[in-house]
Amino acid sequence: MINGSRIKNYTNNQQMKNIISISGGNDSIAMLQWVIENRDFFNDEEFTALYCNTGWAISWWSDRMLKVAKFCEANNINYRETSAKLGFEDLVRKKGIFPNRLQKYCTFELKVKPQIKWRKENKFTTRNTCLFIGVRADESKARSNTTSIGVRDGYDAIYPLAYLSDEQRDAYIVRTGFEVLPTRSSECHPCIYEFSKIKLRRIEPDRVELIADLEKDISDFQNAKRKLRNHPKYNPDEKFGMFNSSNIGTGKGGIREQIRWANSSIGSYNIDQVEMFCEEIAGYCGD
Ligand code: SF4
Repeated sequence: MINGSRIKNYTNNQQMKNIISISGGNDSIAMLQWVIENRDFFNDEEFTALYCNTGWAISWWSDRMLKVAKFCEANNINYRETSAKLGFEDLVRKKGIFPNRLQKYCTFELKVKPQIKWRKENKFTTRNTCLFIGVRADESKARSNTTSIGVRDGYDAIYPLAYLSDEQRDAYIVRTGFEVLPTRSSECHPCIYEFSKIKLRRIEPDRVELIADLEKDISDFQNAKRKLRNHPKYNPDEKFGMFNSSNIGTGKGGIREQIRWANSSIGSYNIDQVEMFCEEIAGYCGD
């Protein structure tokens, strides 16, 4: 298993400051604990945990981040928060489209850009700072090439969890006193990739309503644009939903339809029956 001594040998000894990039999820908590346990290898270097608030977190996330902040301060790690000028909702309204696989602007606008700005404003330069990133090769195919050392935004970057399995990661979390969350970070609720039945069922009812409002605004906007341009696809009834895509086996009725689909049993969903379900029976909170 990788430890601070091995990692430190690879990095530039001139660096005196470290930013631990956190979202508050399991990997973030494990990474904080890794830093605490390997602190001796970094002499008196300064550590700052930086959380970027997307403005789209699940309802209880801010309470969790308060606990994370207290945990950091109790362990001699500075805790700071930053955010983009426009949160998820405002950004979607401004762009007139939900982020999706092809136009995945959310990560850059909500997380990358504000962090770059924060580092610049607070004088964390590529010369004096190293970034800690909580990514693991085990997580996904896309991240399978993750190694312990790398470069991020021109900064030296350390990936302390790179080779950890879920079990090894969880062991770090247990030592912090935080519970291991059963899901990925809920810094965005829902994330644009959370369109499976299970994930859709977990969306908080208030958030469903908020998404439905957003969908209406986007649909009105897109349709108005198409109408003005005599677009051949102009259809005033078309819904530009957050999860409308070929990935989902449902129609284009927007979030409410998708929630009804998520709460249906396999093979039983019938779009023509949609109006027969009242929202309570469809069960936003049945799980
Ligand atoms: S967590 Fe998901 S929704 Fe949030 S910024 Fe990242 S990709 Fe976008």
